[in-house]
Amino acid sequence: MTESELRDWICRHGESLHARGRAHGSSGNISARLDDGILVTPTNSCLGRLDPARISKLAPDGRLLSGDPPSKEGFLHLAMYEERQSARAIVHLHSTHCVAVSCLCHPDPEDVLPPITAYFVMRIGKLPLVEYFAPGDRALAEAVREKARRHHAVLLANHGPVVAGKSLDDAVYNAEELEETAKLFLMLNGRSTRFLEGAQIVDLQRRFPS
Ligand code: ZN
Repeated sequence: MTESELRDWICRHGESLHARGRAHGSSGNISARLDDGILVTPTNSCLGRLDPARISKLAPDGRLLSGDPPSKEGFLHLAMYEERQSARAIVHLHSTHCVAVSCLCHPDPEDVLPPITAYFVMRIGKLPLVEYFAPGDRALAEAVREKARRHHAVLLANHGPVVAGKSLDDAVYNAEELEETAKLFLMLNGRSTRFLEGAQIVDLQRRFPS
């Protein structure tokens, strides 16, 4: 995909996520890796009304090369790209069900959602919680970096998910699968539930290696 096509697709995915209530107000940001830098949605922009020409283009070290100033959460994306060479795009949302799960007390913060469906196992796998930091706190980037070495999706406590993918579509679909799984988890809460078992998860990992 060319840079121009990526800019258009970021806008189209942003519009779709906003229209379906996954990104309210000016929340959420989307980025894509280029050969010579990173595209990221601008600060205070509404994902529903992005202008492809104004999307921020950053150098790999975070310097603004062109476009509007980047999202204040751009440093989360940069930290994840640095740790995961296979990541071609990243989506960060404040989507309601994921945020609700991020506010719960979790007995194992390294694994905060059970294997409810095969699609969650295939798209996300194990989801760790990143401890709470105030928005913009650079310590958050280091906490994300530490988890991103082993995970392409993390959940920021009392905040929301950061999800990478092998392409822009892949990152968006991963983030959407995570939001739907969080919704199912909350719907099932308190009911006796049959989750996928270890052998079933190993079988999925064999059939659909990531
Ligand atoms: Zn955020």
